[in-house]
Amino acid sequence: MKVLNCEQSRELEKKAVDAGMSYLELMENAGAAAVRFMRKKFSLTNKQAVILCGKGNNGGDGFVAARLLSEYGAQVSVLLVDGYPVTEIAKTMFSRLRGTAVRIVNYSDNADTADRLISDADFVLDAIYGTGFHGSAAQSLLRPFHAVRNSSAVVIAVDMPSGANCETGAVEGECIKADYTVTFSTLKNGHLIRPAQEFCGEIAVAPIGIRSELINSQEHSFEVTEQADVHSFFSRRSPESNKGDYGRLLCLCGSDGMAGAAIMSAKAAVRCGAGLVNVALPRSIYPIVASRVIEPVYTLLDYDQEGNLQDGSRAAFFQAFSAASACLIGCGLGKSKKTAELVCRLISESQIPLIVDADGINILAENINILKTAHAPIVLTPHPGEMARLLKTSVKDVQSHRLEYARNFAKEHNVILVLKGAGTLIAEPNGMAHLNMTGNAGMAKGGSGDVLAGMMASFLAQGMEPVKAAVGAVYLHGAAGDRCAKELSQCAMLPTDIIEMLPGLFLEIEQ
Ligand code: ATP
Ligand code: MG
Repeated sequence: MKVLNCEQSRELEKKAVDAGMSYLELMENAGAAAVRFMRKKFSLTNKQAVILCGKGNNGGDGFVAARLLSEYGAQVSVLLVDGYPVTEIAKTMFSRLRGTAVRIVNYSDNADTADRLISDADFVLDAIYGTGFHGSAAQSLLRPFHAVRNSSAVVIAVDMPSGANCETGAVEGECIKADYTVTFSTLKNGHLIRPAQEFCGEIAVAPIGIRSELINSQEHSFEVTEQADVHSFFSRRSPESNKGDYGRLLCLCGSDGMAGAAIMSAKAAVRCGAGLVNVALPRSIYPIVASRVIEPVYTLLDYDQEGNLQDGSRAAFFQAFSAASACLIGCGLGKSKKTAELVCRLISESQIPLIVDADGINILAENINILKTAHAPIVLTPHPGEMARLLKTSVKDVQSHRLEYARNFAKEHNVILVLKGAGTLIAEPNGMAHLNMTGNAGMAKGGSGDVLAGMMASFLAQGMEPVKAAVGAVYLHGAAGDRCAKELSQCAMLPTDIIEMLPGLFLEIEQ
Protein backbone atom coordinates (compact mmCIF):
# COMPACT_ATOMS: atom_id res chain seq x y z
CA MET A 1 0.00 0.00 0.00
CA LYS A 2 1.33 3.33 -1.12
CA VAL A 3 2.16 5.98 1.49
CA LEU A 4 3.04 9.57 0.54
CA ASN A 5 5.14 12.25 2.18
CA CYS A 6 3.89 15.83 2.17
CA GLU A 7 5.76 16.85 -0.97
CA GLN A 8 4.39 13.85 -2.87
CA SER A 9 0.85 14.52 -1.67
CA ARG A 10 1.21 18.12 -2.88
CA GLU A 11 2.43 16.83 -6.24
CA LEU A 12 -0.62 14.58 -6.43
CA GLU A 13 -2.97 17.51 -5.78
CA LYS A 14 -1.16 19.54 -8.41
CA LYS A 15 -1.63 16.75 -10.94
CA ALA A 16 -5.33 16.65 -10.11
CA VAL A 17 -5.48 20.40 -10.68
CA ASP A 18 -3.58 20.09 -13.98
CA ALA A 19 -6.14 17.45 -14.96
CA GLY A 20 -9.02 19.87 -14.41
CA MET A 21 -9.93 19.98 -10.72
CA SER A 22 -9.53 23.22 -8.77
CA TYR A 23 -7.84 23.63 -5.38
CA LEU A 24 -11.14 25.02 -4.10
CA GLU A 25 -12.92 21.87 -5.22
CA LEU A 26 -10.29 19.68 -3.51
CA MET A 27 -10.80 21.67 -0.29
CA GLU A 28 -14.58 21.38 -0.53
CA ASN A 29 -14.25 17.63 -1.06
CA ALA A 30 -11.85 17.25 1.86
CA GLY A 31 -14.16 19.07 4.29
CA ALA A 32 -17.09 17.08 2.94
CA ALA A 33 -15.16 13.81 3.35
CA ALA A 34 -14.49 14.60 7.02
CA VAL A 35 -18.18 15.27 7.58
CA ARG A 36 -19.20 12.14 5.64
CA PHE A 37 -16.96 10.14 7.95
CA MET A 38 -18.60 11.72 11.02
CA ARG A 39 -22.11 11.12 9.74
CA LYS A 40 -21.32 7.45 9.17
CA LYS A 41 -20.10 7.06 12.74
CA PHE A 42 -22.29 9.42 14.76
CA SER A 43 -25.61 11.18 14.83
CA LEU A 44 -25.01 14.90 14.43
CA THR A 45 -28.43 16.44 15.05
CA ASN A 46 -28.29 19.01 17.85
CA LYS A 47 -24.77 17.93 18.79
CA GLN A 48 -22.22 20.56 19.71
CA ALA A 49 -19.30 20.59 17.28
CA VAL A 50 -16.26 22.80 17.72
CA ILE A 51 -13.92 23.24 14.78
CA LEU A 52 -10.41 24.42 15.62
CA CYS A 53 -9.13 26.18 12.51
CA GLY A 54 -5.61 27.30 11.71
CA LYS A 55 -4.90 30.08 9.25
CA GLY A 56 -3.71 27.83 6.41
CA ASN A 57 -5.42 25.32 4.17
CA ASN A 58 -6.08 22.79 6.94
CA GLY A 59 -8.22 25.54 8.49
CA GLY A 60 -9.94 25.89 5.10
CA ASP A 61 -10.96 22.21 5.24
CA GLY A 62 -12.31 23.01 8.72
CA PHE A 63 -14.47 25.90 7.43
CA VAL A 64 -16.04 23.58 4.85
CA ALA A 65 -16.71 20.94 7.51
CA ALA A 66 -18.24 23.61 9.78
CA ARG A 67 -20.70 24.73 7.08
CA LEU A 68 -21.74 21.16 6.23
CA LEU A 69 -22.02 20.02 9.85
CA SER A 70 -24.32 22.94 10.47
CA GLU A 71 -26.44 21.96 7.44
CA TYR A 72 -26.75 18.48 8.93
CA GLY A 73 -28.20 19.88 12.17
CA ALA A 74 -25.17 20.21 14.47
CA GLN A 75 -24.58 23.37 16.49
CA VAL A 76 -21.24 24.49 15.20
CA SER A 77 -18.60 26.91 16.47
CA VAL A 78 -15.44 27.73 14.57
CA LEU A 79 -12.54 28.76 16.79
CA LEU A 80 -9.86 30.73 15.00
CA VAL A 81 -6.93 29.61 17.11
CA ASP A 82 -4.22 31.21 15.02
CA GLY A 83 -5.93 34.32 13.60
CA TYR A 84 -7.84 34.85 10.37
CA PRO A 85 -7.17 32.73 7.28
CA VAL A 86 -4.31 33.81 5.03
CA THR A 87 -4.47 31.59 1.94
CA GLU A 88 -6.85 32.56 -0.86
CA ILE A 89 -8.88 29.35 -0.85
CA ALA A 90 -9.16 29.24 2.95
CA LYS A 91 -10.34 32.88 2.83
CA THR A 92 -12.99 31.92 0.26
CA MET A 93 -14.23 29.04 2.41
CA PHE A 94 -14.27 31.34 5.44
CA SER A 95 -16.41 33.83 3.54
CA ARG A 96 -18.90 31.04 2.76
CA LEU A 97 -19.69 30.80 6.47
CA ARG A 98 -21.39 34.19 6.26
CA GLY A 99 -25.15 33.83 6.59
CA THR A 100 -24.91 30.32 8.09
CA ALA A 101 -25.69 29.38 11.70
CA VAL A 102 -21.98 28.75 12.39
CA ARG A 103 -20.66 30.80 15.30
CA ILE A 104 -17.17 32.24 14.85
CA VAL A 105 -14.93 32.93 17.81
CA ASN A 106 -11.48 34.46 17.60
CA TYR A 107 -9.61 32.50 20.27
CA SER A 108 -7.23 35.22 21.35
CA ASP A 109 -10.12 37.68 21.97
CA ASN A 110 -12.42 35.26 23.77
CA ALA A 111 -10.30 32.48 25.21
CA ASP A 112 -12.64 31.80 28.15
CA THR A 113 -15.70 31.45 25.91
CA ALA A 114 -13.70 29.29 23.49
CA ASP A 115 -12.50 26.99 26.26
CA ARG A 116 -16.07 26.62 27.52
CA LEU A 117 -17.21 25.66 24.02
CA ILE A 118 -14.47 23.05 23.81
CA SER A 119 -15.33 21.69 27.22
CA ASP A 120 -19.07 21.38 26.34
CA ALA A 121 -18.50 19.96 22.85
CA ASP A 122 -19.56 16.52 21.65
CA PHE A 123 -17.09 16.73 18.78
CA VAL A 124 -13.86 18.64 18.29
CA LEU A 125 -12.51 18.80 14.75
CA ASP A 126 -8.80 19.58 14.65
CA ALA A 127 -8.11 21.57 11.49
CA ILE A 128 -5.17 23.61 12.77
CA TYR A 129 -2.10 22.13 11.11
CA GLY A 130 -2.13 19.70 8.23
CA THR A 131 0.52 17.73 6.42
CA GLY A 132 2.97 20.61 5.97
CA PHE A 133 3.66 21.08 9.68
CA HIS A 134 7.12 20.57 11.19
CA GLY A 135 8.77 21.66 14.43
CA SER A 136 6.74 22.28 17.57
CA ALA A 137 3.30 23.83 17.91
CA ALA A 138 3.18 27.59 18.55
CA GLN A 139 3.17 28.67 22.18
CA SER A 140 -0.24 30.34 21.70
CA LEU A 141 -1.80 26.94 20.92
CA LEU A 142 -0.92 25.37 24.23
CA ARG A 143 -4.07 26.71 25.90
CA PRO A 144 -6.55 25.39 23.30
CA PHE A 145 -4.61 22.09 23.18
CA HIS A 146 -4.99 21.87 26.95
CA ALA A 147 -8.73 22.56 26.69
CA VAL A 148 -9.10 19.75 24.13
CA ARG A 149 -7.18 17.36 26.34
CA ASN A 150 -9.53 18.10 29.25
CA SER A 151 -12.71 17.84 27.22
CA SER A 152 -14.63 14.59 26.85
CA ALA A 153 -15.46 15.40 23.21
CA VAL A 154 -14.68 12.93 20.43
CA VAL A 155 -11.64 14.41 18.68
CA ILE A 156 -11.32 14.07 14.92
CA ALA A 157 -8.15 15.29 13.22
CA VAL A 158 -8.31 16.49 9.64
CA ASP A 159 -5.39 14.95 7.70
CA MET A 160 -2.94 14.87 10.64
CA PRO A 161 -3.25 15.64 14.37
CA SER A 162 -1.86 19.14 14.90
CA GLY A 163 1.65 19.04 16.33
CA ALA A 164 2.70 15.84 14.52
CA ASN A 165 5.16 15.84 11.63
CA CYS A 166 3.54 14.10 8.68
CA GLU A 167 6.84 13.44 6.95
CA THR A 168 8.96 11.93 9.74
CA GLY A 169 6.41 10.90 12.36
CA ALA A 170 8.17 13.09 14.93
CA VAL A 171 6.23 14.91 17.67
CA GLU A 172 8.50 17.56 19.06
CA GLY A 173 6.14 19.54 21.29
CA GLU A 174 2.46 19.41 22.25
CA CYS A 175 0.15 17.50 19.95
CA ILE A 176 -3.61 16.97 19.68
CA LYS A 177 -4.49 13.40 20.61
CA ALA A 178 -7.19 12.37 18.16
CA ASP A 179 -9.71 9.54 18.46
CA TYR A 180 -9.98 9.51 14.68
CA THR A 181 -7.96 10.96 11.82
CA VAL A 182 -9.52 11.43 8.40
CA THR A 183 -6.92 11.76 5.69
CA PHE A 184 -7.34 12.11 1.95
CA SER A 185 -6.52 9.94 -1.08
CA THR A 186 -3.66 7.97 0.55
CA LEU A 187 -1.98 7.44 3.91
CA LYS A 188 0.96 9.72 4.78
CA ASN A 189 4.16 8.68 6.55
CA GLY A 190 3.19 10.13 9.93
CA HIS A 191 0.03 8.02 10.13
CA LEU A 192 2.19 4.93 10.39
CA ILE A 193 5.32 6.01 12.20
CA ARG A 194 5.56 6.41 15.95
CA PRO A 195 5.26 8.64 17.84
CA ALA A 196 2.90 10.54 15.46
CA GLN A 197 0.96 7.36 14.73
CA GLU A 198 -0.02 7.10 18.40
CA PHE A 199 -1.75 10.51 18.19
CA CYS A 200 -3.89 9.58 15.17
CA GLY A 201 -6.39 7.17 16.74
CA GLU A 202 -8.33 5.21 14.14
CA ILE A 203 -7.39 6.33 10.64
CA ALA A 204 -9.75 6.62 7.69
CA VAL A 205 -8.54 7.32 4.16
CA ALA A 206 -11.26 9.21 2.28
CA PRO A 207 -11.43 9.90 -1.46
CA ILE A 208 -11.65 13.54 -2.52
CA GLY A 209 -12.29 13.05 -6.22
CA ILE A 210 -8.68 12.51 -7.42
CA ARG A 211 -8.76 9.83 -10.10
CA SER A 212 -7.24 6.48 -9.12
CA GLU A 213 -4.92 6.51 -12.19
CA LEU A 214 -3.31 9.65 -10.82
CA ILE A 215 -2.97 8.16 -7.34
CA ASN A 216 -1.55 4.92 -8.75
CA SER A 217 1.02 6.72 -10.88
CA GLN A 218 2.13 9.10 -8.12
CA GLU A 219 5.78 8.56 -7.22
CA HIS A 220 6.25 7.42 -3.63
CA SER A 221 9.10 6.34 -1.38
CA PHE A 222 7.32 4.49 1.39
CA GLU A 223 4.91 1.59 1.39
CA VAL A 224 3.24 -0.89 3.67
CA THR A 225 3.92 -4.51 2.72
CA GLU A 226 0.81 -6.45 1.79
CA GLN A 227 0.27 -10.18 1.51
CA ALA A 228 -0.22 -10.05 -2.27
CA ASP A 229 3.17 -8.30 -2.72
CA VAL A 230 4.91 -11.04 -0.78
CA HIS A 231 3.13 -13.89 -2.52
CA SER A 232 4.27 -12.48 -5.85
CA PHE A 233 7.93 -12.85 -4.80
CA PHE A 234 7.71 -16.64 -4.96
CA SER A 235 7.61 -18.78 -8.06
CA ARG A 236 6.59 -22.43 -8.28
CA ARG A 237 9.31 -25.05 -7.92
CA SER A 238 9.66 -26.68 -11.29
CA PRO A 239 8.83 -30.43 -11.29
CA GLU A 240 12.20 -31.05 -13.01
CA SER A 241 14.24 -29.08 -10.51
CA ASN A 242 16.88 -30.45 -8.15
CA LYS A 243 18.52 -29.07 -5.03
CA GLY A 244 21.12 -27.27 -7.10
CA ASP A 245 18.34 -24.98 -8.34
CA TYR A 246 17.58 -23.65 -4.87
CA GLY A 247 20.87 -22.24 -3.79
CA ARG A 248 23.49 -23.04 -1.20
CA LEU A 249 23.37 -21.10 2.01
CA LEU A 250 26.40 -20.88 4.27
CA CYS A 251 25.72 -19.86 7.88
CA LEU A 252 28.61 -18.60 9.99
CA CYS A 253 26.70 -18.78 13.27
CA GLY A 254 27.02 -20.10 16.80
CA SER A 255 29.74 -20.17 19.42
CA ASP A 256 30.24 -21.77 22.83
CA GLY A 257 27.13 -20.97 24.87
CA MET A 258 25.26 -19.76 21.78
CA ALA A 259 24.27 -23.02 20.09
CA GLY A 260 20.59 -22.03 20.09
CA ALA A 261 21.12 -19.15 17.66
CA ALA A 262 22.77 -21.52 15.17
CA ILE A 263 20.00 -24.10 15.61
CA MET A 264 17.16 -21.63 15.12
CA SER A 265 18.65 -19.83 12.15
CA ALA A 266 19.57 -23.09 10.37
CA LYS A 267 16.17 -24.62 11.08
CA ALA A 268 14.38 -21.57 9.72
CA ALA A 269 16.63 -21.59 6.65
CA VAL A 270 15.87 -25.23 5.75
CA ARG A 271 12.13 -24.61 6.31
CA CYS A 272 12.26 -21.73 3.81
CA GLY A 273 13.28 -23.83 0.86
CA ALA A 274 17.05 -23.47 0.36
CA GLY A 275 18.56 -26.36 -1.64
CA LEU A 276 21.47 -26.87 0.71
CA VAL A 277 22.33 -25.30 4.05
CA ASN A 278 25.87 -25.53 5.37
CA VAL A 279 26.49 -24.39 8.94
CA ALA A 280 30.06 -23.46 9.82
CA LEU A 281 30.47 -23.67 13.60
CA PRO A 282 33.01 -24.47 16.31
CA ARG A 283 33.51 -28.22 16.70
CA SER A 284 32.54 -27.88 20.39
CA ILE A 285 28.89 -27.10 19.65
CA TYR A 286 28.52 -29.38 16.63
CA PRO A 287 26.96 -32.32 18.54
CA ILE A 288 24.16 -30.26 20.06
CA VAL A 289 23.40 -28.28 16.91
CA ALA A 290 23.50 -31.26 14.55
CA SER A 291 21.31 -33.33 16.85
CA ARG A 292 18.63 -30.63 16.69
CA VAL A 293 18.81 -29.80 12.97
CA ILE A 294 19.75 -32.75 10.85
CA GLU A 295 19.14 -31.39 7.35
CA PRO A 296 22.21 -29.13 6.93
CA VAL A 297 25.75 -30.18 6.29
CA TYR A 298 28.29 -28.90 8.78
CA THR A 299 31.72 -27.35 8.41
CA LEU A 300 33.54 -27.83 11.69
CA LEU A 301 35.86 -25.06 12.75
CA ASP A 302 38.89 -25.69 14.92
CA TYR A 303 40.71 -22.80 16.52
CA ASP A 304 44.22 -22.54 17.92
CA GLN A 305 44.97 -21.02 21.32
CA GLU A 306 45.10 -17.47 19.94
CA GLY A 307 41.62 -17.88 18.50
CA ASN A 308 42.88 -18.20 14.90
CA LEU A 309 41.14 -20.68 12.64
CA GLN A 310 43.47 -23.65 12.12
CA ASP A 311 44.71 -24.06 8.54
CA GLY A 312 42.46 -27.03 7.72
CA SER A 313 39.35 -25.29 9.05
CA ARG A 314 40.21 -22.07 7.24
CA ALA A 315 40.55 -23.93 3.94
CA ALA A 316 37.29 -25.82 4.54
CA PHE A 317 35.46 -22.61 5.45
CA PHE A 318 36.64 -20.70 2.38
CA GLN A 319 35.83 -23.64 0.16
CA ALA A 320 32.28 -23.65 1.54
CA PHE A 321 32.13 -19.86 1.10
CA SER A 322 33.19 -20.06 -2.52
CA ALA A 323 30.48 -22.66 -3.21
CA ALA A 324 27.72 -20.65 -1.49
CA SER A 325 25.11 -18.47 -3.17
CA ALA A 326 24.52 -16.43 0.01
CA CYS A 327 26.00 -16.25 3.48
CA LEU A 328 24.44 -15.49 6.86
CA ILE A 329 26.90 -14.03 9.32
CA GLY A 330 26.44 -13.41 12.97
CA CYS A 331 23.68 -15.25 14.88
CA GLY A 332 25.33 -16.21 18.18
CA LEU A 333 28.74 -15.80 16.54
CA GLY A 334 30.62 -14.02 19.33
CA LYS A 335 32.87 -11.08 18.59
CA SER A 336 36.43 -11.99 19.47
CA LYS A 337 39.18 -10.12 17.65
CA LYS A 338 39.85 -13.01 15.26
CA THR A 339 36.16 -13.45 14.51
CA ALA A 340 35.91 -9.72 13.81
CA GLU A 341 38.82 -9.96 11.35
CA LEU A 342 37.13 -12.83 9.53
CA VAL A 343 33.78 -11.00 9.36
CA CYS A 344 35.43 -7.85 8.00
CA ARG A 345 37.27 -9.86 5.37
CA LEU A 346 34.03 -11.54 4.26
CA ILE A 347 32.22 -8.21 4.02
CA SER A 348 35.02 -6.70 2.03
CA GLU A 349 35.70 -9.62 -0.35
CA SER A 350 32.32 -11.25 -0.81
CA GLN A 351 30.90 -11.72 -4.30
CA ILE A 352 27.69 -13.22 -2.92
CA PRO A 353 24.87 -11.48 -1.00
CA LEU A 354 25.45 -11.34 2.74
CA ILE A 355 23.09 -10.98 5.61
CA VAL A 356 24.70 -9.64 8.71
CA ASP A 357 22.87 -10.05 12.04
CA ALA A 358 23.52 -9.90 15.78
CA ASP A 359 27.26 -10.17 16.57
CA GLY A 360 28.01 -9.53 12.90
CA ILE A 361 26.37 -6.12 13.42
CA ASN A 362 28.18 -5.57 16.70
CA ILE A 363 31.45 -6.21 14.88
CA LEU A 364 30.42 -3.82 12.12
CA ALA A 365 29.61 -1.13 14.69
CA GLU A 366 33.32 -1.09 15.55
CA ASN A 367 34.45 -1.32 11.91
CA ILE A 368 31.84 0.68 10.04
CA ASN A 369 34.22 1.84 7.31
CA ILE A 370 34.59 -1.71 6.06
CA LEU A 371 31.19 -1.24 4.39
CA LYS A 372 32.85 1.19 1.96
CA THR A 373 34.93 -1.67 0.59
CA ALA A 374 31.98 -4.04 0.02
CA HIS A 375 30.75 -4.79 -3.48
CA ALA A 376 28.15 -7.52 -2.92
CA PRO A 377 24.61 -6.73 -1.73
CA ILE A 378 24.50 -6.54 2.07
CA VAL A 379 21.45 -6.79 4.31
CA LEU A 380 21.81 -5.68 7.94
CA THR A 381 19.14 -6.69 10.45
CA PRO A 382 19.66 -4.67 13.65
CA HIS A 383 17.18 -4.53 16.50
CA PRO A 384 16.93 -1.04 18.04
CA GLY A 385 19.80 -1.78 20.47
CA GLU A 386 22.09 -2.88 17.64
CA MET A 387 21.01 0.12 15.56
CA ALA A 388 21.91 2.38 18.49
CA ARG A 389 25.36 0.75 18.55
CA LEU A 390 25.79 1.27 14.80
CA LEU A 391 24.87 4.95 15.13
CA LYS A 392 26.55 5.49 18.51
CA THR A 393 23.36 6.86 20.01
CA SER A 394 20.66 5.72 22.43
CA VAL A 395 17.84 3.26 21.81
CA LYS A 396 15.38 6.03 22.72
CA ASP A 397 16.83 8.25 20.01
CA VAL A 398 16.64 5.41 17.46
CA GLN A 399 13.04 4.67 18.39
CA SER A 400 11.95 8.27 17.96
CA HIS A 401 13.59 8.57 14.50
CA ARG A 402 13.09 5.09 13.08
CA LEU A 403 12.27 5.95 9.48
CA GLU A 404 14.76 8.78 9.20
CA TYR A 405 17.68 6.83 10.69
CA ALA A 406 16.97 3.61 8.78
CA ARG A 407 16.73 5.55 5.52
CA ASN A 408 19.84 7.61 6.10
CA PHE A 409 21.90 4.57 7.07
CA ALA A 410 20.82 2.58 4.02
CA LYS A 411 21.66 5.49 1.72
CA GLU A 412 24.94 6.41 3.33
CA HIS A 413 26.31 2.87 3.55
CA ASN A 414 24.67 1.43 0.44
CA VAL A 415 23.05 -1.49 2.30
CA ILE A 416 19.55 -2.77 2.88
CA LEU A 417 18.79 -1.91 6.46
CA VAL A 418 16.13 -3.89 8.34
CA LEU A 419 15.31 -2.03 11.55
CA LYS A 420 13.45 -4.60 13.65
CA GLY A 421 10.86 -4.22 16.39
CA ALA A 422 7.12 -3.51 16.25
CA GLY A 423 6.64 -2.00 12.79
CA THR A 424 9.90 -3.31 11.28
CA LEU A 425 11.22 -0.98 8.58
CA ILE A 426 13.20 -2.07 5.55
CA ALA A 427 15.16 0.76 3.94
CA GLU A 428 16.83 0.55 0.54
CA PRO A 429 19.87 2.55 -0.56
CA ASN A 430 17.71 4.38 -3.15
CA GLY A 431 15.52 5.98 -0.46
CA MET A 432 12.60 3.57 -0.72
CA ALA A 433 11.32 2.21 2.60
CA HIS A 434 8.86 -0.56 3.48
CA LEU A 435 6.85 -0.85 6.68
CA ASN A 436 5.81 -4.24 8.01
CA MET A 437 2.61 -4.56 9.99
CA THR A 438 2.61 -8.28 10.84
CA GLY A 439 4.01 -9.64 14.11
CA ASN A 440 3.25 -9.14 17.76
CA ALA A 441 4.79 -8.76 21.19
CA GLY A 442 4.87 -12.54 21.66
CA MET A 443 7.89 -12.37 19.34
CA ALA A 444 9.79 -10.17 21.77
CA LYS A 445 11.87 -13.14 22.98
CA GLY A 446 15.48 -14.15 22.46
CA GLY A 447 15.67 -16.30 19.33
CA SER A 448 12.96 -14.65 17.19
CA GLY A 449 15.62 -12.58 15.44
CA ASP A 450 17.67 -15.68 14.62
CA VAL A 451 14.61 -17.24 12.99
CA LEU A 452 14.11 -14.13 10.87
CA ALA A 453 17.77 -14.07 9.80
CA GLY A 454 17.62 -17.74 8.74
CA MET A 455 14.47 -17.14 6.70
CA MET A 456 15.89 -14.10 4.93
CA ALA A 457 19.17 -15.86 4.21
CA SER A 458 17.33 -18.82 2.75
CA PHE A 459 15.44 -16.59 0.31
CA LEU A 460 18.65 -14.78 -0.63
CA ALA A 461 20.43 -18.08 -1.28
CA GLN A 462 17.60 -19.10 -3.61
CA GLY A 463 18.30 -16.05 -5.73
CA MET A 464 15.49 -13.79 -4.57
CA GLU A 465 16.37 -10.10 -5.00
CA PRO A 466 17.79 -8.84 -1.70
CA VAL A 467 15.02 -6.30 -1.09
CA LYS A 468 12.35 -8.90 -1.74
CA ALA A 469 14.13 -11.41 0.49
CA ALA A 470 14.15 -8.84 3.31
CA VAL A 471 10.58 -7.60 2.82
CA GLY A 472 9.22 -11.12 2.29
CA ALA A 473 10.99 -12.70 5.25
CA VAL A 474 9.95 -9.92 7.62
CA TYR A 475 6.31 -10.20 6.51
CA LEU A 476 6.14 -14.01 6.73
CA HIS A 477 8.04 -14.11 10.03
CA GLY A 478 5.48 -11.71 11.51
CA ALA A 479 2.54 -13.57 9.92
CA ALA A 480 3.81 -16.87 11.36
CA GLY A 481 4.22 -15.13 14.73
CA ASP A 482 0.61 -13.92 14.54
CA ARG A 483 -0.60 -17.49 13.97
CA CYS A 484 1.47 -18.65 16.96
CA ALA A 485 -0.12 -15.95 19.11
CA LYS A 486 -3.58 -17.09 18.07
CA GLU A 487 -2.96 -20.77 18.74
CA LEU A 488 -0.47 -20.72 21.57
CA SER A 489 -0.80 -17.24 23.19
CA GLN A 490 1.71 -14.40 22.99
CA CYS A 491 3.06 -15.41 26.37
CA ALA A 492 3.76 -19.09 25.68
CA MET A 493 4.73 -19.04 21.99
CA LEU A 494 8.39 -19.81 21.29
CA PRO A 495 10.67 -18.61 18.50
CA THR A 496 10.85 -22.23 17.29
CA ASP A 497 7.03 -22.28 17.08
CA ILE A 498 7.34 -19.48 14.48
CA ILE A 499 9.28 -21.94 12.30
CA GLU A 500 6.61 -24.62 12.77
CA MET A 501 3.95 -22.19 11.52
CA LEU A 502 5.77 -21.58 8.21
CA PRO A 503 4.42 -24.65 6.33
CA GLY A 504 0.86 -23.28 6.58
CA LEU A 505 1.97 -19.97 5.08
CA PHE A 506 3.87 -21.62 2.22
CA LEU A 507 0.86 -23.84 1.48
CA GLU A 508 -1.13 -20.65 0.87
CA ILE A 509 1.63 -19.25 -1.34
CA GLU A 510 1.77 -22.45 -3.40
CA GLN A 511 -2.00 -22.54 -3.98
P1 ATP B 1 19.10 -10.90 20.40
O1 ATP B 1 19.43 -10.32 19.08
O2 ATP B 1 18.96 -9.86 21.45
O3 ATP B 1 19.95 -12.02 20.78
P2 ATP B 1 16.86 -11.99 19.02
O4 ATP B 1 17.76 -12.12 17.87
O5 ATP B 1 15.98 -13.13 19.25
O6 ATP B 1 17.65 -11.57 20.31
P3 ATP B 1 15.86 -9.59 17.90
O7 ATP B 1 17.06 -9.57 17.07
O8 ATP B 1 15.48 -8.40 18.70
O9 ATP B 1 15.88 -10.78 18.90
O10 ATP B 1 14.60 -10.00 16.98
C1 ATP B 1 13.31 -10.10 17.48
C2 ATP B 1 12.33 -10.29 16.34
O11 ATP B 1 10.99 -10.25 16.84
C3 ATP B 1 12.41 -9.19 15.30
O12 ATP B 1 12.08 -9.69 14.04
C4 ATP B 1 11.35 -8.21 15.77
O13 ATP B 1 10.84 -7.40 14.74
C5 ATP B 1 10.28 -9.14 16.31
N1 ATP B 1 9.54 -8.45 17.39
C6 ATP B 1 10.00 -8.19 18.62
N2 ATP B 1 9.08 -7.49 19.33
C7 ATP B 1 8.03 -7.29 18.51
C8 ATP B 1 6.74 -6.63 18.66
N3 ATP B 1 6.39 -6.04 19.81
N4 ATP B 1 5.91 -6.62 17.61
C9 ATP B 1 6.28 -7.21 16.45
N5 ATP B 1 7.46 -7.85 16.25
C10 ATP B 1 8.32 -7.89 17.27
MG1 MG C 1 18.96 -10.71 17.19
